[in-house]
Amino acid sequence: MNNAHQSGIGVPAVSNASLAARAARAIPGGVNSPVRGFGSVGGTPRFMVSGQGWRMTDAEGTEYVDLIGVWGPALLGHAFPEVIDAVTRTAAQGLGFGTSVPAEAELAEEIMQRMPEVERVRLVSTGTEATMTAIRIARAATNRPLIIKFAGHYHGHSDGLLAAAGSGLATFGLPGSAGVTAEIAAQTLVLPYNDLTAIEAAFAAHSGEIAAIITESAAANMGIVPPAPGFTAGLLRIAHEHGALVITDEVLTGFRASAAGYWGIERTDMVPGQRPDLFTFGKVIGGGLPLAALGGRAELMDLLAPLGPVYQGGTLSGNPVAVAAGLATMRAADAGAYTQLNWFADALARETTSALAAAGVAHRVQRAGTLMSVLFGDFDTPPSGYDEVLRQDTDQYRAFFHAMLDGGVHLPPSPFETWFVSAAHDAVALDRIVAALPAAARAAAAATS
Ligand SMILES: *Cc1c(COP(=O)(O)O)cnc(C)c1O
Repeated sequence: MNNAHQSGIGVPAVSNASLAARAARAIPGGVNSPVRGFGSVGGTPRFMVSGQGWRMTDAEGTEYVDLIGVWGPALLGHAFPEVIDAVTRTAAQGLGFGTSVPAEAELAEEIMQRMPEVERVRLVSTGTEATMTAIRIARAATNRPLIIKFAGHYHGHSDGLLAAAGSGLATFGLPGSAGVTAEIAAQTLVLPYNDLTAIEAAFAAHSGEIAAIITESAAANMGIVPPAPGFTAGLLRIAHEHGALVITDEVLTGFRASAAGYWGIERTDMVPGQRPDLFTFGKVIGGGLPLAALGGRAELMDLLAPLGPVYQGGTLSGNPVAVAAGLATMRAADAGAYTQLNWFADALARETTSALAAAGVAHRVQRAGTLMSVLFGDFDTPPSGYDEVLRQDTDQYRAFFHAMLDGGVHLPPSPFETWFVSAAHDAVALDRIVAALPAAARAAAAATS
């Protein structure tokens, strides 16, 4: 442990190891979401107790540069003053009423303003619910059963979407999940990403049966794999020619890859009127509290109850405290915030590459707007799909991860993840990372299998 990163103040309370042992007795695997468990990197997970900006501090008082960012929501960094203010002011008025509250429509409007393709918004609590509901709408609207998803894309943990679902499963080497019936699995066609020919073939083989294609706007749950030039336009064209809908999952990329998500980057490449039918959002729009959404064309969204026949509901949907956090986050995420995110991602990519290159570690930096990730191994050409990404050197990542952690930088504990930066990451954060990189690069070089 590097003492330079110890806060030095207060009592070194409880050790991470004892907290992990206690959690393991009460909670399956000691975690409430699998990748938190250090399963693919080994060692003892850190139990965080506080965060401020790019800093987070664990139960032993060790401070880290955070590159997990709550897996997406922390766009502005931790404990951003206006967000904390909005949350505390709202919470003091009551945690929820089971009625509508005024701010729900304000958050919906904030989303619609940034994405004019979204004509109605329904707020839910998790990205999993958002994609599950979008698919239900697509099936109802088309009266067709099948869904196309792409290998390595993650859309939450509903039964029908867990096949070849990227990070969480890739981390543990699982093809899908036990407990999903063959009947349900058969309703999802898993195709290779960035392969329009495979989409054409699926529509030919299942004529009149495919309700929708669901796609991450840029794949970001197998590391970053952006859509190849022309792929998004092609998939929209093919789906619409066959009477199927397109659901663009922006739960991770939304309001992070750019102010209008990854679609905001690609929309100008489309022919006029060509657009996804439904979008899903989460992570950033909850500002760190449980909140997600789906939105899209009015006539599709209006199929939802109470207007239409598609049922969906939620006790905590549109919870006022979560809405306040999301609204404050979206309002503070101005052009300057995205400039800062982009600057930091560029700098992080540049410094990581230079350290890895100096140590002779083959790697590739992947980008999608402000998003970045690093693949370890020989990749002469950018990977376009899951099979290629799975070839990366996970031993090297494990060594790199732990050396960075010892140097006070907390990367995602899996090689199949985005490195999440925030608008709070600054030159001081960068200096700390730059200081940790050489030893981590040498550790990765020594781990070459
Ligand atoms: C995180 C994520 C989800 C699931 O969101 P939860 O809030 O974890 O249920 C869905 N789609 C994508 C692209 C995601 O990154």
